[in-house]
Amino acid sequence: MIINVNAARATGQSLPFSFEFDGQSLITDRDEGGLDGPVRAQGSYRYQDGAVYLRGSISAKIVCPCDRCLSPAQYQIDADIDERFVEGGQPDEYGYTGDEIDLGKYLGDVLLLNLPPIVLCEESCKGLCVRCGANQNIDDCGCDKAPLSLKTDGLAQLRDSLQKLEEQQKQRD
Ligand SMILES: [Zn+2]
Ligand SMILES: [Zn+2]
Repeated sequence: MIINVNAARATGQSLPFSFEFDGQSLITDRDEGGLDGPVRAQGSYRYQDGAVYLRGSISAKIVCPCDRCLSPAQYQIDADIDERFVEGGQPDEYGYTGDEIDLGKYLGDVLLLNLPPIVLCEESCKGLCVRCGANQNIDDCGCDKAPLSLKTDGLAQLRDSLQKLEEQQKQRD
């Protein structure tokens, strides 16, 4: 994923770029999921005053379990590319030395930045029943739909077990 700075510098024109790569190794924290097909990036770059300006777009398709119901879900990433590479760049910016820029690190960063926080099979996914685990998109299990209150249920359980402990201790005394 190399672009040629020399060519852009010599011509002063914006030059096209187009890359396809396997970003699978970048996506390690999606349970049993990952990229469906290659990551595609294309656009153009131009040279001005020691810096290379990159513009374009990146796209990739993700498949992974739905975050609500665990059925297979898809997500399409379409993001803009807009970055400046400074000759001899500082640690907090993208830089380059010499006549070429390897875009691998940058494009990987863009992909990671644009990973969705959650992926749903569809926006209206009803998820799994919190009581019996049935997929509520497929069948209505008939469970009580009142949300489980972890707070009050948890506190009630704690109180019960404390009471039992006290009773056990009293019996021992
Ligand atoms: Zn779902
Ligand atoms: Zn249920």
